[in-house]
Amino acid sequence: MATLIPYDDRDGQIWMDGKLIPWRDAKIHLLTHGLHYGSGVFEGCRAYSGHIFKLNEHSQRLIESAKILDMKMTWTVEQIDQACIDTLKASGLKDAYVRPVAWRGSEQMGVTAQKSKIHFAVAVWEWPNYFTPEMRENGLHLQTSRWQRPPAACAPVHSKAFGLYMICTLSKHAAENAGFHDALMLDYRGQVAEATGANFFMVKGGELHTPIPDCFLNGITRRTIIDLAKSKGIKVTERVIMPAELGQADECFLTGTAAEVTAIGKIDNHTYKVGPVTRMLRDEYEKLVRQPPQKSKSVA
Ligand code: PMP
Repeated sequence: MATLIPYDDRDGQIWMDGKLIPWRDAKIHLLTHGLHYGSGVFEGCRAYSGHIFKLNEHSQRLIESAKILDMKMTWTVEQIDQACIDTLKASGLKDAYVRPVAWRGSEQMGVTAQKSKIHFAVAVWEWPNYFTPEMRENGLHLQTSRWQRPPAACAPVHSKAFGLYMICTLSKHAAENAGFHDALMLDYRGQVAEATGANFFMVKGGELHTPIPDCFLNGITRRTIIDLAKSKGIKVTERVIMPAELGQADECFLTGTAAEVTAIGKIDNHTYKVGPVTRMLRDEYEKLVRQPPQKSKSVA
């Protein structure tokens, strides 16, 4: 097994509260609200050939996620974009994972956090594939989790908030311990929701079906794949999917910035082939992310 290189002991630079600082100096105090009370939000972006795919959408979502947690970001979308670009440049990497993160500081220790300062940082590292090439080629094995996605009235479900990942970690640990790669999570109604860090699609009769994101993240990759599929003449239906239907799917796959388009080979006792629709969308997505971003029209 490869040796783990701890994330706090690496070379490089991290952008923190307005400037690039040495990687190992990017520290926060023990008494930080974000650490104790989960008041923080983050993004996961990917750079391909030196360009961060859909960066502006990620920066907008970071601000929106913060707003949902009643955290007012002082940085604008453009400044967040620039911080990500500067950190990527400083890393010297062309293909990389980009992690912007915002959290409440140490001004107050208690449930209330009205006077807390909002901090913002960006780190960039090499992270070629979220799943191994073998998992990607044969399809992931997913186990249905016993944890359910909560309703929108019980958690800030549309924010990419720290706290929402606790049930994801628990689900993924249980799945891994049972010999699976990841977990499929149902929602509080028992409907299929998503995996622990990626959205879910199934192919049936050449058409795409995906759950309505009313209590989980409507992923940027999810929306990209819906547009891509439609542009190829594939019908896409966003609807309620019950677990009983999973046995009738022809193909299933996950989408996410880190997961990209990854085929599913098994959900509990149901097995799937890596089929033609998944392969086509995976190839088209790989092409799309490497297209140079469109230059804004110059004003004469
Ligand atoms: N759901 C969860 C829980 C996630 O963490 C992610 C990854 N950000 C996604 C879905 C997919 O979102 P995106 O395509 O925007 O990366």
